[in-house]
Amino acid sequence: MKRLKCLRSMVAMVLLLGVSSLSAQNSDYPGNYAKAPRFKALLCYSETAEPAHVEFGHQAVDFFKDLTVGNGYILDVATSFSGYDYDKLAAYDVVIAINTVPGSKSERDAFEKYMENGGGWMGFHAAGYNDASTKWPWFNQFLGCGTFLCNNWPPQPALLDVNLTNHPVTKNLPVSFVAPKNEWYMWNEPADKRDNVDVLLSLSQKNYPIGLKDVVSHGEWPVVWTNRNYRMIYLNFGHGDREFSDATQNLLIINALRWIVSRSPKGDTFKR
Ligand code: ZN
Repeated sequence: MKRLKCLRSMVAMVLLLGVSSLSAQNSDYPGNYAKAPRFKALLCYSETAEPAHVEFGHQAVDFFKDLTVGNGYILDVATSFSGYDYDKLAAYDVVIAINTVPGSKSERDAFEKYMENGGGWMGFHAAGYNDASTKWPWFNQFLGCGTFLCNNWPPQPALLDVNLTNHPVTKNLPVSFVAPKNEWYMWNEPADKRDNVDVLLSLSQKNYPIGLKDVVSHGEWPVVWTNRNYRMIYLNFGHGDREFSDATQNLLIINALRWIVSRSPKGDTFKR
């Protein structure tokens, strides 16, 4: 009987310790749990683009779907901007544009209104492609650079330099890293020439000359940038099936998504 009493008091003590350590953990716990999905994203990609851009599209869908694990956010996937009027777009905290640009007048008007009213856009590679035939001046000023100029060929890895090391999108990245193979777009009037644009990463000058068939030998070559007049970021990655093969680049992509979403006019959802 005495032994049983002793055992009971030991159990009580363990329970008490357990409870007190749990409450200490609660008060010190540095995280915050979301009870519901924190935000809503629309990923738009085309199935009828250049095959390497479609390949990237399929992998991008998998990549962003994986990030919703645990119901962290809602990801809707569309294969064109058709039917997305302003009201539909306004339901999303961010549009992830993979390889396509709004094409018809109504699609462009809706997207323009969405962005001018605080919408979020994360654009990859061909989602920023435009040339003389595009005829959408608003998009050029939104993108913050001129039209497409040239690219290296074949697609290949390249050394990237981080230009802004204290930016929320780059602060946990190395100052330079080799990015997976890509068809790197160069632009007329590169983004770094505009006052309202922050270039976050560029192709290192050490890459020159770059290419085996089409060789680029000099020039400013921004790769990731943001136009501060909008809640947007452009990342030139997006060609072929290797784009999600590098942890550093994947981290950068997640940082970019988080940064765009965190600046929503509705407030920073990650602080809730
Ligand atoms: Zn490409």
